[in-house]
Amino acid sequence: MPGRLYSVSLLGLALAAVLLTGREFRSLSEKQTVVRGPGVSAVTRLSDCLPALRGTAGDTDVYFLESGKPGGTLLVLGGVHANEPAGMLSAVLLVENARLEKGRMLVIPEANASAFTHVESAEGFPVRFTMAAEDGSARWFRFGGRLTNPVHQWPDPEVYTHYPSGQLLSDFDVRNLDRAFPGRPDGNFTERIAFAITGLIRREKVDLTIDLHEARPMNPIVNCVIFHERAREIASLGSIDLESAGVKLRLEPSPQNLHGMSHRELGDHTDTTALLMETANPIQDRLHGRTSEQLILDGRDDFFLQAARRGLLYVTYEGKGLPLEERVGRHLASLAKLVQIFGELNPEREIGLGNLPDYALLKDRGISPFLRPAIR
Ligand SMILES: [Zn+2]
Repeated sequence: MPGRLYSVSLLGLALAAVLLTGREFRSLSEKQTVVRGPGVSAVTRLSDCLPALRGTAGDTDVYFLESGKPGGTLLVLGGVHANEPAGMLSAVLLVENARLEKGRMLVIPEANASAFTHVESAEGFPVRFTMAAEDGSARWFRFGGRLTNPVHQWPDPEVYTHYPSGQLLSDFDVRNLDRAFPGRPDGNFTERIAFAITGLIRREKVDLTIDLHEARPMNPIVNCVIFHERAREIASLGSIDLESAGVKLRLEPSPQNLHGMSHRELGDHTDTTALLMETANPIQDRLHGRTSEQLILDGRDDFFLQAARRGLLYVTYEGKGLPLEERVGRHLASLAKLVQIFGELNPEREIGLGNLPDYALLKDRGISPFLRPAIR
């Protein structure tokens, strides 16, 4: 009898573990809210450009903000890498705040929606982070992985061959959306997502594409704009103007022989002018201490402070860390400048962006005043 009681207890414990972990696993598929701001004229799905994506974890919302006045078309990508929250959040703030004064803007805050449904294993990453909206109510966002969720694309090959260049890349990069462009309609899941974005650019005749990322503070590409050759002048003039405004944006030409990245392939395979920007994200670096929601929000970690003192970081790092509002503010200020320069160089395709959250205001008051309450 005691043995039987023991078995029943063990079974009970196992069931409880399954229920608890199962609930947590299911919650990873729960979608964060993006509120339609007053400037949004339509919301479509990425799968409109590739019906095979419909109903899959790779489908995602595409927000249209249109002025009704002639001008150019801008596409902003956030969340190509779901573990780089400033990129996604900058795109969310554009959707919730911006008003177009000329031309139009398309925004995809979660470009790789599948990557927002998991985190990299064995790192103890938080799966979401919470901030207050303008009225004090809570808004939560997903912290995801760099790659497509292996639940949606598996197994990885021993070597990933990029299409169409034939370049050989690391096995895991087969699930990296920023190694999958321009993509193909009958390729693997990540290539299909890339193909749909490329198709959107062609269909909507997107003039300017800006892809928002973050990188490790120990990576020299932080606080850089990486530009396709057709975007060289915009990036150079933008960098000069930003520096005089106190924002240092380093210039990095897109490597011609490194394939799959948005700035290279979208520039080569479509008529769009393609750029990518990086801010510095401590939680992405190997150097971090405890991986917590706090580290996502303020980027404060004593290990980085010590590394900065030894000159190992490519960003200025002080006791206050690298707060998310500063990274988002930098992205939005840089984006506004690049869009303005694009308009000056191409007056017939000018894109007028109004009501963007100001960098100084973001640094001073944080992100909350620019987040709308999530009313479902
Ligand atoms: Zn990235």
